[in-house]
Amino acid sequence: MAKVRIYQLAKELGVEETRIMEILEAHGMKSGNRLIGLDEDQVRMIKEELGREKVSEPSPTDEKIEAITEEIESKLEKEEIKKKPRRTRRKKLKRVDKTLTAGKGVVEKETVKEGKITLSEGVTVKELSEKLGIKSKVIMKKLLEMGILATINQTLDKDTAMKLCQEFGCEAEVVSFEEEVMLEEEMKPKELMPRDPVVTVMGHVDHGKTSLLDAIRQTNVAEREMGGITQHIGAYKIEVNGRGIVFLDTPGHEAFTRMRSRGAKVTDIVVLVVAADDGVMPQTVEAINHAKAAGVPILVAVNKIDKPNADPEKVKKQLSDLGLTPEEWGGKTVFVEISAKKRINLDLLLEMLLLIADLEELKADPNVLARGTVLEARLDRARGPVATVLIQSGTLRVGEPFIVGAVWGRVRAMFDDRGRRIDEAGPSTPVEITGLQGLPEAGDIFQVVKSEAKARQISNFRQAKLREKELARKRASRLTLDKLYEQIREEGIKELPLIIKADVHGSLEVVEDAVEKLSSDKIRLRIIHSGVGAINVTDVLLASASNAIIIGFNVRPEKKAIELAEAEGVDIRLHTVIYNLTNEIKNAMVGMLEPTFEEVPLGRAEVREVFRIPRVGVVAGCYVTEGKLVRNAEVRLLRDNIVIHEGKIGSLRRFKEDVVEVREGFECGVGIANFNDIKIGDIIECFQVVKKAPEIE
Ligand code: GDP
Repeated sequence: MAKVRIYQLAKELGVEETRIMEILEAHGMKSGNRLIGLDEDQVRMIKEELGREKVSEPSPTDEKIEAITEEIESKLEKEEIKKKPRRTRRKKLKRVDKTLTAGKGVVEKETVKEGKITLSEGVTVKELSEKLGIKSKVIMKKLLEMGILATINQTLDKDTAMKLCQEFGCEAEVVSFEEEVMLEEEMKPKELMPRDPVVTVMGHVDHGKTSLLDAIRQTNVAEREMGGITQHIGAYKIEVNGRGIVFLDTPGHEAFTRMRSRGAKVTDIVVLVVAADDGVMPQTVEAINHAKAAGVPILVAVNKIDKPNADPEKVKKQLSDLGLTPEEWGGKTVFVEISAKKRINLDLLLEMLLLIADLEELKADPNVLARGTVLEARLDRARGPVATVLIQSGTLRVGEPFIVGAVWGRVRAMFDDRGRRIDEAGPSTPVEITGLQGLPEAGDIFQVVKSEAKARQISNFRQAKLREKELARKRASRLTLDKLYEQIREEGIKELPLIIKADVHGSLEVVEDAVEKLSSDKIRLRIIHSGVGAINVTDVLLASASNAIIIGFNVRPEKKAIELAEAEGVDIRLHTVIYNLTNEIKNAMVGMLEPTFEEVPLGRAEVREVFRIPRVGVVAGCYVTEGKLVRNAEVRLLRDNIVIHEGKIGSLRRFKEDVVEVREGFECGVGIANFNDIKIGDIIECFQVVKKAPEIE
């Protein structure tokens, strides 16, 4: 995470730099220089300190924040109103009026709900306000003090939400969304009902797992059903003596453990298949260990007893040595001798499974929001994403909104394991559903939620998190000049791909020559693309795809290109002096790169008129399109994204008055010191150059 400099933080928080330095010193930290970088903890500590001061003595900044909050709120209210149909709009307007007058001059007293509260991930400002019993306006204000400008429907990350609660004197715990639903459900009186067991078949390869699953299925399901097509949806349910048993269709411990590693507990009983002619084998042992680790009871099916060389006694002996002692030998493990091929003792096996299930007292509440685990998911050409979900508690109905991993959806259609359309499914039922907005993964938790809006919100939040992670991964593997030396040394990078853009052909050739000469025996510089003109989106895409660094000589990136480069973590280096450019690369190659100066962009303005004023020179009539122009700052004049001139602002005026700065949305007159070649349509880019202090460890 990038460090925040003292002066930046001071500006962000609207306090004096010296105040921050004081706080640092009071905590025994170094503070001598306003360019010192602060890490996250330090920033948090400073914000906390400042926050405390604000509570005790209202300062002028407080009023400012109040004013800004009011403004945001009224804007938000208006936006919300606009979206609503007319009738409610009028009502809402009235309400706003009322609150405005009521709020005037009245000191609000906020009472926080007592005790500990539980927040779900991605809680919005509005939800937090409801949970805390504090007006959202007050929360937004506190957020502003923390340097965060938030809207009412904005989701907050875990740390911010916890911090806020602390600020309001309330203890909070942030749980994942599923956990929250579970907690809510726990509060309700439970109506636990017995449910069917879910069984996974495990064992060594070729010992007969698939044969057993097929045999059980065929005994119970008429082959000809559905015109001879038996569905394979990852699980099936059979009926024995009027009771059900669910079998997971992917045998083996890999699938079992993959699920478990994702936090899903699906299996109630493991059937361990051991071939009587082969005995205990390596995967038999593995399967036992996996089942034991999960705390799932094991039923041993000694298979292939029809074979002449079958030796079930030997299997019992071997398994006893591994801690699975048969009941007949005084142990606790149920053994059944079967033949999947000849269908011997399959009924006995099923009865035993029900017996174990009874001992386990498997129960679930069918009257809660349905919850389950994804067993399989695939993309169907005609139906879109399709998932098999094992419902574990509650009852799932067609039309219900849900969240599954980072994907949300609404059950469009639901089918059972025989391909029959059904409207609802209770605990221990495998179903195939459509209506997903994306493809979940096996092992993802499926949870029905109260509203589609909530489902979307959680999904957006999780997807943003995933993108962040993906980005961090991408960034970590990106070539950048800052990390080049490390990458050469540690990752054995042999080549540095470059993309070079320059203002004219002449300079492009010079840059290309200079760069090519820098190749050493350790690392070769390879120009994969070069051209004349601004750095554009295609350049950044190419750089991203080929892990290249972009060099701009006398040119600037287009706005879209900057955004993309930031998102993709592409390193863009801009120069106007060849020596600086080659020096930078040279230093990076030997690990001596000290990027000493850093540009902080301030704003941009468009030249709309040009005035020639005798004895003064050319003054540009400008409109500030972004940020602000500041009198003593540096400027760069761009024409079609080519740097025409770099220098300082000579004069900055509004209505003939000299001013220090002009903000976005205003017009002004700008003179550039010692430079007169300004044309209509030029862009003035205003920036500050700060010396980048070496990072303090
Ligand atoms: P998996 O790898 O554990 O799924 O084993 P399979 O179910 O594919 O079976 C492996 C081989 O053993 C196949 O050729 C089956 O026909 C055979 N087999 C499975 N069960 C029995 C059985 O009860 N008796 C005999 N004789 N062969 C069996």
